[in-house]
Amino acid sequence: MEAVVGVTLQLDRAIAQETAPVWEKVKSHVTPMEWPDQARLISEINALKKDRDAVILAHNYMTPEIYHGVGDYVGDSLGLAKEAARSDAKVIVQAGVHFMAETSKILSPDKTVLIPDLKAGCSLAEAITGADVRLIKQRYPGLPVVTYVNTTADVKAETDICCTSANAVQVVEWAAREWGVDRVILIPDEFLARNVAAQTTVGIIAWKGRCIVHERFKADDIHAMRQAYPGAEILAHPECPEDVLGAADFAGSTAAMTDYVMAKKPRQVVLITECSMAANIKGDVPEVDFIGPCNLCPYMKRITLTNIRDCLRDMTFEVTVPEDMIPRAARAVQRMIDLPPPAVPARYDMIKARHHVPVELI
Ligand code: SF4
Repeated sequence: MEAVVGVTLQLDRAIAQETAPVWEKVKSHVTPMEWPDQARLISEINALKKDRDAVILAHNYMTPEIYHGVGDYVGDSLGLAKEAARSDAKVIVQAGVHFMAETSKILSPDKTVLIPDLKAGCSLAEAITGADVRLIKQRYPGLPVVTYVNTTADVKAETDICCTSANAVQVVEWAAREWGVDRVILIPDEFLARNVAAQTTVGIIAWKGRCIVHERFKADDIHAMRQAYPGAEILAHPECPEDVLGAADFAGSTAAMTDYVMAKKPRQVVLITECSMAANIKGDVPEVDFIGPCNLCPYMKRITLTNIRDCLRDMTFEVTVPEDMIPRAARAVQRMIDLPPPAVPARYDMIKARHHVPVELI
């Protein structure tokens, strides 16, 4: 705690001791000026978690003081969904966006699921409705519907199986085999669908949904970063356009990117994804130099330590899913969870891209 010795004077000794390990993880991101308020909130939240028998599931895109400070489980959508199903806690607080909280409720209908801000949405989840999926099924009868987990409960209820960016290729190939078809519907992220199509011989029918964070990256940005930082390794998320992945050194889900950095510990890394990812991994590998660009997700950034504290104190805002929707949506999520886990989170190898069948955009 030497680096914050002046600041610790402003903190109760017990809180300073309790939060000292967190400070070590966040000090490259949080200033000593901000830390006393954050440390008090972290301590308050940890006490409330015990009182409420609650766990906090924190997504990789949360800010470091949430991710390292109060997250009981941290990870990507797939990891958090599995944890929601496994947890014995009575209350789940989703430090993430609304579709993730719905997924937790779908998998744990008897638990109270809370989200600190109901406006924490997602451009992908808002891109499609259950009614849209019903129309798509009428247009393509007999084809399996695979939906990205970034969808609302009513979309999941119309779905055969969910996927995340960590297992999308595996799920698409499983669905094609199970249904005995050579095409599947993969919605709603157009870029994820195109990037999956490059990794499989299964034909893909896609929807024009976009992640507002990842669609902004351009291949020219990657080339410019490479020129400015020769030697830096560039990792991209599969919600980015195809040519961005093609220009990167590695492409994979947030879990795959984390594994890559933790295993290889490159000297310099550029993460082409939401900004907080780099700040969070930096807490575990301070020797790695992370370089922007920094795109923030405005939905993820609605979640703060203050509203997590309020959420646990006031037991707001509860996320519910209509009872008749839960079994149908749960079947789609559980099918994904029940698939054997990949030995390592899938990577998108654009050099070996196959492109046998073009993507059909609905
Ligand atoms: S980063 Fe993109 S996919 Fe994730 S919540 Fe934000 S808008 Fe949705």
